[in-house]
Amino acid sequence: MKKAVSYEPTVGLEVHVQLKTNTKIWCGCPNRYGISPNTDICPVCLGYPGALPVLNARAVELTVRTGLLLGCDINRYSKWDRKNYFYPDMPKNFQISQYDLPLCVGGGLDIEVEGERKRVNLTRIHLEEDVAKNTHYPGRSVIDFNRAGTPLMEIVTEPDLSTADEAMAFLLALKEMLSYGEISDCNLEEGNIRCDINCSVRLAGAEELGTKAEIKNMNTFKGVHRALSYEIKRQTTEVQRGGEVVQETRRWDDGGGMTQSMRTKEYAHDYRYFPEPDLVPVRLEEKAIEQIRSELPEMPASRRLRFVESYGLPAYDAGVLVAEKEVADFFEAVAGICSNYKTISNWIMTELLRAISDSGQGLSDSSITPENLAGLIGLVDGKKVNMAGAKDVFQVLFEEGGDPAAIVETKGLSQVSDEGAIESFVDQAIQENEKSANDVREGNDKALQHLVGQVMRLSRGKANPQVVLLLLREKLKN
Ligand code: ZN
Ligand code: MN
Repeated sequence: MKKAVSYEPTVGLEVHVQLKTNTKIWCGCPNRYGISPNTDICPVCLGYPGALPVLNARAVELTVRTGLLLGCDINRYSKWDRKNYFYPDMPKNFQISQYDLPLCVGGGLDIEVEGERKRVNLTRIHLEEDVAKNTHYPGRSVIDFNRAGTPLMEIVTEPDLSTADEAMAFLLALKEMLSYGEISDCNLEEGNIRCDINCSVRLAGAEELGTKAEIKNMNTFKGVHRALSYEIKRQTTEVQRGGEVVQETRRWDDGGGMTQSMRTKEYAHDYRYFPEPDLVPVRLEEKAIEQIRSELPEMPASRRLRFVESYGLPAYDAGVLVAEKEVADFFEAVAGICSNYKTISNWIMTELLRAISDSGQGLSDSSITPENLAGLIGLVDGKKVNMAGAKDVFQVLFEEGGDPAAIVETKGLSQVSDEGAIESFVDQAIQENEKSANDVREGNDKALQHLVGQVMRLSRGKANPQVVLLLLREKLKN
């Protein structure tokens, strides 16, 4: 690695998070994803003149919950403001947001990169409305208003990050917290988390920040990492050769692997923020905040501890299982039916996580249920199917679902434990592998494994390996 140059990057993030509410922030339209364009809409979220917004209290609750989890100060009095701009994703020509009195201020999140802990301080968390989604085709653009009015929480960090790895660690820690807090679905493919990057470089040790460029609308964490690595290098090279960084908005070109200039950066005053006259300010009573505090869900650190203490799992297992809330919930659902906790953990850590990563889908998109996995573990314990067969059944359960016992039947995987049936395979294997048989008689264990393999092959994987081993030892005793 090259010795550190005399310039240091300073990076801050603005993370937009769609909140998990039933309805939109100002109207009763459903807050959901994936239905046909422009169906979840009404005069309010279409921005018709004269349509009046009514605040969805749940959105405020979830933002306050986030603030409490991140150690922010919760403003007892906060208000709404209009952020004025002209773009076809917003027919009102302003976005209702919060300017000088956001719901939460301060707070922070600890991250760890290569064993080093670091605190990333937060500036603020405010609440605003998401806007419509534009899609551009050659020669025409289309607008989908289903997204308009989705409650959008914006988490703004101080410029405390200095590398792409730190930004990645922050986003992962934040995502873990948000999904554990049931604040957002955190589905990046569906645009639940989008992120703007503010990046500048300065002389190492300088007090003042350098001129920053903003990279807008990143919707994957990997993209953030790549864009930031590129941008830090670009700016450092620029100032090292005596040039200047221009204050501007840039976009990430994922295919080209570079950031490109879009437009000169807006300043806050360009937006002509002014108070929203159609919404009353939010006053939060002490009692309401205490209520939200008392309902804070279990966070990953305490869940890991509980997995070790209540289920007797190794700390390593607890760490792997708890990393994704969905996976940890699944483990607990299976553990409610079947008490072989370590066996459940093994199935999840190996087969389930492999199947999830192979399929490129989430656990919730798969067909496996806790009942099915518990049933499959029961079949293995009852010696109805051997491990190799069980793994095949698992794959079917994951892809198509169904009853594990029925799948064992139809796939002909029923384990053969009947000694008579196995014996003929054993005899055949000994006959066909004379040399191995002799080696075993002389005490060669490797040859014994080879013969077990041959019997398993002849039985098409259905023989109970323990019985096979027993019979082989019996027959090849000297
Ligand atoms: Zn609506
Ligand atoms: Mn925003």
